[in-house]
Amino acid sequence: MRLILDLDNTLYPAKCNLIRDIETRISQFVALKLNLDFDEGDRLRREYFIKYGTTVTGMKVLYDVPPAEFYEYTHQIDIHDYISTDEALRATLQRIGIPMSVFTNSPLSYATQVLEVLGIDDLMDGVYCIEFSEFISKPTPLGYEKLHRELSLGETGAIMVDDQPRNLVPGVKLGWKAIRYNEDGMREPDERFVEITTLDELPEAIERVTD
Ligand SMILES: [Mg+2]
Repeated sequence: MRLILDLDNTLYPAKCNLIRDIETRISQFVALKLNLDFDEGDRLRREYFIKYGTTVTGMKVLYDVPPAEFYEYTHQIDIHDYISTDEALRATLQRIGIPMSVFTNSPLSYATQVLEVLGIDDLMDGVYCIEFSEFISKPTPLGYEKLHRELSLGETGAIMVDDQPRNLVPGVKLGWKAIRYNEDGMREPDERFVEITTLDELPEAIERVTD
C-alpha cells in the first residue's frame, strides 16, 4: 500500500492563505501577460482552472507561455510568512507507517520548499509535481496513470488524500482508495468519499478505507 498525498490546502491549511495569495499573483500574471485589468485576469484564472485543471496549463495551451516564466512570477512568495514546522502533522504521518508520496499540481521547487518548512520532507518517498505530469494537471488522468505505472500501484494498492473531490475521481477509476480532506468541515461534504475534517483523523480513515 502507498499513500498519495496532495500538497496545497491538504498538508497545510487553506486558512493560512498561502494559496489565496498565490492565486492573487496568478491573476496578476494573467492580467499582465494579456494586458487586462486585475478583475479580468482573475476571471480568466478561474476559467482556466476549471477548463484546464490549472491556470498554468491554460496559459501554455492558449498563449504558449512557458511554465517556468509563469511560476517565476506566481510563486515568488515567502512561504515562511504562511507556514511553519508542523510537529503534529509529522507525528500523525509517522504513525501511519506506510510509504508515502506527494502528488501535486504545484512546481517541484515550491513543493520541496513547503515540505521542508513543514518538517516532513524526509518522510516522503517521492514528490510528483506538475513537471512530472507534463503540465497536464490533476484531475486529468495523465499524471495519475504515469504514477500508477511508475510506482506499480496496481500491485501495491494506493490511498489518495486530496482536498478537492474532483481530484480523487481519476484515482478511484484506477482502483485507488480515496480520502477527502474537508478542512474543519468548511466545504460541502461529498458522500462519494470517506471524509476527514482534521489531519489527526487520517490514520483512522486509512484503516476504514482499507478494511
Ligand atoms: Mg489541494
